[in-house]
Amino acid sequence: MSGTKTARVVVVGGGQAGFSVASTLRGAGYEGPVTVFADERHLPYERPPLSKKAHTDSLRVELVPESFYKERDIELRLGEDVVAIDTAAYAVVTGTGTRVSYDHLVLATGARNRPLPVPGTELTGVHALRSLDDALAIGRALTTARDVVVVGGGFIGLELAQVARAHGARVTVVELADRLLSRAVSPQLQERLRERHERGGVRILTGTAVQSIEGTDHVRQVVTDRGALPADLVVYGIGAAPRDELARDAGLAVEDGVIVDEQLRSITDPRISAVGDCARHPHPHADGLVRLESVQNATDQGALVGRRIAGSPSPYESLPWFWSDQGDIKLQIAGLRANTDDVRLALGDSPERLAAYAFRDDRLVAVETLNWPAEHLAARRVLERSQPVCAADLAGSTLGALVRARRAAEVRA
Ligand code: ADP
Repeated sequence: MSGTKTARVVVVGGGQAGFSVASTLRGAGYEGPVTVFADERHLPYERPPLSKKAHTDSLRVELVPESFYKERDIELRLGEDVVAIDTAAYAVVTGTGTRVSYDHLVLATGARNRPLPVPGTELTGVHALRSLDDALAIGRALTTARDVVVVGGGFIGLELAQVARAHGARVTVVELADRLLSRAVSPQLQERLRERHERGGVRILTGTAVQSIEGTDHVRQVVTDRGALPADLVVYGIGAAPRDELARDAGLAVEDGVIVDEQLRSITDPRISAVGDCARHPHPHADGLVRLESVQNATDQGALVGRRIAGSPSPYESLPWFWSDQGDIKLQIAGLRANTDDVRLALGDSPERLAAYAFRDDRLVAVETLNWPAEHLAARRVLERSQPVCAADLAGSTLGALVRARRAAEVRA
């Protein structure tokens, strides 16, 4: 492999993870050529605001201005997709047939929306949300929409439901599972979130299957197994699947994501790394391999690979955290809830504040909070430092209070 002055890094994907790789490389003093392929035509941008903010044509989400890339000599190839990896020749092939060789290849290809498997999704007025263009189209539709049906009661669906309410539309959320946010939060919190959305005027139908979307050209109604719902705008957010087919076609180990080691290198080919939504990786906070869809994960994994290629390797250990702004509901999660066996709820000092502490074998592993940023930050501090907290420690207390008490005890000792 060439030295760090000449070794070429090729990044496939211009989202938060790909951006993080390129900017970290330069920040760490890497001098070799860096090329980023991004299939969208926009400069790399932040995705979280797309489902959270009222959408207008002035939505500004660019991560950095174009000059950032020029000044750092990062070659940004917008609107150009990579269609194949030739691992034997260490080269990628683009949609126009160009070959670009690499010394290090980083896959930051993200995820794509799961399609809604019913007839009628091609009608005008039916949208999924992933890209800035999708958000702008939904924003335009919201200016006139009266009856909005949101399919999927996960993060994206509930965020968009509140955006639509803020536009004054009547909003119904149709969720297939018996509960909202069944992937993301503990059952105790799911109920509380439902109450808050309903109080805010969102109608919620759980355990309901969409059968078809109907209309002539433009959507008119959504037919479910519990009847038809009038609709002039339908948005669906029913989860995402990793874009891992480049890796699979190249013969890399793939299983719902590109399988990587603790340094985020493909377990099949150490010259290829994967970061962000498309990577399945070991993590000290997980039981086995995980794939995480979050800005924290994309940014931290991109930075880790950037630093490694620049000469400072370290294993991936960042504490996972997530957030979702659903109107005035601020949901924050620290840690990973999978395989927890006990959840305790705590009320904050105002009725809007709530925390759910999730334990595995009587050890705190995840904390979900509603409208309580201080408790979320306390949770991140505790979980990042792996300070053990058991259920008894939190009986009648909050984590914030526990952290303060422990700190005071340390000062006294
Ligand atoms: P996203 O990031 O798209 O919000 P989540 O996994 O957080 O993804 O949420 C997706 C939600 O969509 C889940 O609550 C899931 O139960 C729900 N869902 C999946 N398939 C369907 C479907 N066909 N109709 C309605 N809801 C669905």
